[in-house]
Amino acid sequence: MSPEGRARVEAWLEYFNDLGISDFCLDRAVATLEISSAPAETIPAALEPPLSRPARVAPAVVNSNETHVVPVLPVIKSASLFAANERIEGDTLERIREDIGADCRRCKLCEQRNKIVFGAGHPKAELVFVGEGPGHDEDMQGLPFVGRAGKLLTQMIEAMGLRRDDVYIANVVKCRPPQNRAPEPDEIETCSPFLYRQLAVIQPKAVVCLGAIAFQSLTGTKPSMSRIRGQWLEFRGIPLLPTYHPAYLLRNPNAKGDVWEDLKKVMAHLGLKLPAKR
Ligand code: URA
Repeated sequence: MSPEGRARVEAWLEYFNDLGISDFCLDRAVATLEISSAPAETIPAALEPPLSRPARVAPAVVNSNETHVVPVLPVIKSASLFAANERIEGDTLERIREDIGADCRRCKLCEQRNKIVFGAGHPKAELVFVGEGPGHDEDMQGLPFVGRAGKLLTQMIEAMGLRRDDVYIANVVKCRPPQNRAPEPDEIETCSPFLYRQLAVIQPKAVVCLGAIAFQSLTGTKPSMSRIRGQWLEFRGIPLLPTYHPAYLLRNPNAKGDVWEDLKKVMAHLGLKLPAKR
């Protein structure tokens, strides 16, 4: 195994250990080893371990007409506001990106940004993660959550048995706030309509709000994260669950268990396999 591969596996193991789910993940890893030694055509898709599952056999997170798993947790339903007057007929992610433009100058964040970070992932993802705004690494690469917090988010996604490509990841503001300060209200107001359009196009089964800024931007309310996290709410007809931002987890690793509890609710809602109770 290459040193990078080893470091990645060690980081997973440490993270899964923090969450107390190493047995669950090791079981899946063993399944991977056993299955990978069998001829590919003899492996039933349902037995493929989630960590190595290609997108084509991840129906639980990708909208399709095929398998649909009944949500385990009840989610309050209401008419989608998108259906009323906010939905743009025929809108697509490509069109939203074009509308933002190559050199958006709608707010002051344009002055110091390097790259616009539009969002990335599966265009029909059943699960969308919404963060606050790009940091230094994201600004350099033009991709969301690729720095330290992003690596932790990737581990969280993989702990759910998914891959980054299965989900969609976006931010409230698409340009990096200087010195990683929180985006200001005028910046959020200017940029969030693009996020709303992204969500309207993707129509995920669930949105996970990472941190208070994402939550406030989507709901217009400002409760404390510790009070609101892990509760199902709704954004324009889409089930929304707030949890702590991965950057907060880097500073407060003890909160990883809370986030894992939140993510398990999301897994149940999406019909993903949950780790056995220990
Ligand atoms: N933090 C965020 O909120 N978004 C990113 O893309 C990276 C870090």
